[in-house]
Amino acid sequence: MQITFKHVEYRYSFNTPFEKLALEDINLEIPTGRFLSVIGHTGSGKSTLLQHLNGLLKPTEGTVTMGAHTIHAKQKSKSLKAVRQKVGIVFQFPEHQLFEETVLKDICYGPMNFGISREVAESRARELIVKVGLTEDVLSKSPFDLSGGQMRRVAIAGVLAMDPEVIVLDEPTAGLDPRGQKEIMDMFYELHKEKGLTTILVTHSMEDAARYADEIVIMQKGRLKKQGAPREIFSHAEELFEMGLDVPDVVRFQYEYEKASGRSLGRTCLTIEE
Ligand code: ADP
Repeated sequence: MQITFKHVEYRYSFNTPFEKLALEDINLEIPTGRFLSVIGHTGSGKSTLLQHLNGLLKPTEGTVTMGAHTIHAKQKSKSLKAVRQKVGIVFQFPEHQLFEETVLKDICYGPMNFGISREVAESRARELIVKVGLTEDVLSKSPFDLSGGQMRRVAIAGVLAMDPEVIVLDEPTAGLDPRGQKEIMDMFYELHKEKGLTTILVTHSMEDAARYADEIVIMQKGRLKKQGAPREIFSHAEELFEMGLDVPDVVRFQYEYEKASGRSLGRTCLTIEE
């Protein structure tokens, strides 16, 4: 599903004394199957941008086109159901949304609510629980008897059970230990490669952006400041410094060495897995 933002503006509390401009003239194309990473400071508009991807927010100006659906200010929320089904959002700390008695019921809740049969939903749950790195015996447990990291995996399986075409990840590894972080990100990368799942990742980790994304977008003060392949973005490390973004050590070292010595190290220093 091709995604296009055209002149998107978003104002919170529109037409009230508390009006707040959060997105300004965003133009962005996300082709089917892309892995896009969105980076930027807190308050730069990343979450607001994400919430336009399944109609949780509608632009106050401009349009967001998701496949055959165009979302604009005057759209009725009901007509967005079809879009919501195709876009899975993993919010920060998704485990806070677990609520059912068993893991199986929790994973099946979304699909069954959208009219998928119990049989199909349960078969997806059995497949997905393994995919997210757990074992089938977890399905009969209460989600609240699991560790934080296991709960996170169950919540992710619940989003994947909707069989989305697009997956939106808002800091999906926040609060996990480094091994858990890598396992979860590798899993999303595998899904993206296997199924051609369009993946949009908001992250504070430049390493993750560099390692997994085909393309990086940098948000600053509600605007799309820069867009490009990781190599392009990181070959201008000075601009990232100026924006106060946390650049990986390897890039920082390269930049500081070049600045101090006046010699170029080339751009081979940053290794990006392809
Ligand atoms: P990020 O995800 O990059 O931290 P956000 O999209 O959350 O940024 O916020 C963008 C801007 O919108 C910020 O200035 C923020 O204070 C403001 N904002 C976010 N949510 C609301 C809200 N519910 N009401 C009013 N302003 C908001």
